Parts: sequence; structure tokens; C-alpha cells
Amino acid sequence: MQFKDVIGQQAVKERLRVSVRENRVAHTQLFLGPEGSGALPLAIAFAQYLNCQNKKDGDSCGTCPSCVKYQKFAHPDLHFIFPTATNEKIKKYPQSELFQEEWLNFIRKNRGYITQSSWYQNLGIGNKQGTIYARDANEIVKLIGFKPYEALFKVVIIFQAERLHVAASNKLLKSFEEPPDNTLIILVADRYELVIPTVRSRAQLIKVPKLKETAIRDTLLDQFSEKLTDEKAGEFAVLSQGSWNLALELMEQSDEREYNFMKFREWMRLCFSGKDYVALFGIIQELSRLGRERQKRFLKYGLQVMHNSLMINGKQGVPIVARNSEKDYLLKFAPFVNTANQKRMYELLNEAIYHVERNAHPGILFADLSFKMTELMMAGKKAVVQ
Ligand SMILES: [Zn+2]
Repeated sequence: MQFKDVIGQQAVKERLRVSVRENRVAHTQLFLGPEGSGALPLAIAFAQYLNCQNKKDGDSCGTCPSCVKYQKFAHPDLHFIFPTATNEKIKKYPQSELFQEEWLNFIRKNRGYITQSSWYQNLGIGNKQGTIYARDANEIVKLIGFKPYEALFKVVIIFQAERLHVAASNKLLKSFEEPPDNTLIILVADRYELVIPTVRSRAQLIKVPKLKETAIRDTLLDQFSEKLTDEKAGEFAVLSQGSWNLALELMEQSDEREYNFMKFREWMRLCFSGKDYVALFGIIQELSRLGRERQKRFLKYGLQVMHNSLMINGKQGVPIVARNSEKDYLLKFAPFVNTANQKRMYELLNEAIYHVERNAHPGILFADLSFKMTELMMAGKKAVVQ
């Protein structure tokens, strides 16, 4: 990763460049930045810059032998330590070394923009908290005991330094204080007060501020030009509160809401006509493949449509929804949700959520639900005609 791949943070980048230029690179540094500010990608870009054999224009070249390996996050002198816990694969004595492949794939996929919770979710550790163990500390001591394999600097990046176990930090204090020559240890953290004081006092603090709205907006427009308007990008930038991860999450949610709306409308239209079984089966199959969490959110969206329809029918006004297309749809749909079917529809959607949570076969579940919804829509239609 080059500096240019790291969003915003011009001042921090400049400070890091100057430290290299003036040969004042502290051996142990603490990159402290709130979630989504990019402290981890900055640490990686800095390490790449430090080792680049052909720096130019204030950035690493991206093409020298060192950069080529760094671009893949796979340089023999670049090491990552991070919190882990037991999961399906590692049932005892977890440590970073055992999860290297998962880690590298994860940071590659996200270009270094990861959060603690997204990492835990990726690891599949359930509700457990990850820890950096004494075993990890032994590994670090061993790693930095060797000379760099081929790089100028051997770099160890410790993600989520807050999660260093006391036993681990005790083993590392000496290494933090006086690492061997040509070694750089970068601790990455988002909560200063949770980093053990004896650890943080041994590291040079590099503060990484929240991202500026303009940086987030411009990057969103840059990366998603085909589906974002200036206005929408600006809106996400404001709501993201300086976190690139939150900005992406908001965008995904907005995409998903659009999908849910379109799909629900199509689904109900097919149930309503009760004729086109080929198309209906197409939808059933598509919904079956969504994955449990998305299926639940789709069904909850359906419940919301039911609720809004009742509000409209009860003359309680048209609910505030994201877009006019949704409002138009609700006004047309609402009359067909009536005393002939409303209660049962609510129940069916709620039951479906319950069964999705309990691992029901999705194909059978959505087929059954579709047939019942077809009957109910027919009943609703009849009630309107009468
Ligand atoms: Zn290079």
C-alpha cells in the first residue's frame, strides 16, 4: 500500500515522510486513531515507504522488489500480530501465527480498512473478545531477534494494541524500549486509555485524526462514481463522522434497502397475480441464496411495509420513507392489506424470521411463505373488490 492509497491524512503522511528524510524514525511508534480513520493502512504504507528502494514524490514507488511484496502485504520482513480467540478451526491456544492466512486475505480485501468487530466477525469467534497473548509476545521477540531477511527495516505491526494481555506486554517492554537495529514496531490502537500505560509510554505517539468530510466524500465519488450522486456522497460523508468504515456501511445499507424494496415489490406483485409460477420460483431461489442475516432484514423490511400500509389505511398519514418511489408503491399497495389478511401476514413474516434464525431450509421456507402470501393477497384483493 502506498501513501496515495490511504485516504486523506495529509498532515500525518507529511510528518512520517519528514521523520524518514531526517533520519529520525522512532523504533517503536503508536499509531492512535479512531475506528475508520485509517491508522492501520497508514502504518502499512509507512512501512512500505521506509523500505522502498526508489522513493519519489513523497511516496513509495510501488514497483521496486520491496514494494511489489509490500503491495501484497506479503514481505518476509513484514509481520502482523493481532487479537485472536478460539474458533471452529483453532480450538485451543489461539495466536496470530495460526491465523496469518485469514488475516492477510482480510486486510487485502479491505485495503487495510478494518475494525476490531469486523475482524472478530471474520474470525468467527462469536461473542468472545480477542486477545494478544503471551504466546504472541514470544513470537514477536523471536521475530525481531533475527536480522532482516532482505529489507532495510524489519517491521512488526501490532493491530489493536489495546488487546495486549498484561503477560504479553510484560514480555515486550524491553523490545519496545530497545528493539534491535533496523527494527520498527508499530502499535495500532483506537483507544489510548485502554493501552497499558507502560506500553504507551515506550512508544512515540502518532495521532491519526478522524477523516475530513471532504476526504470521505471525494473518495466515495472516486470509488463508486457509477452509483453515487454528489449529494448522496456528501450525505454519507456527514453521517460517517470521519470513519471510512462507517461510510461504506451506510452505503451498503442504502444499497440493501433499494434491493429489499425492489425485490419485495416484485415478490408481492407475483403473489398478487398468482399466475406466473416460473418467475415466483425465480424469486424464491434468489431469496434462498441471500444468507441468513440478509434474509432476516428482507423479511423485516416486509413487516415495515405491512406496518406502513396499516398506517396509511388508518389515515395516520403517509410514513416518511427514503424515496418517493417507495411512497408511491405504499399508496398503491396499502388498500390490499386489510382485515381479510393483515393479521395473518404479520404473523407469517414474523414466523419466517423466527425460522430463519433457527436454520430452516431457506428454499422450503420461502416457497411455503410465497404460497401462503399468494392466498392472502387474493383474499385482500377480493375484500377490496367487494
Ligand atoms: Zn518501491
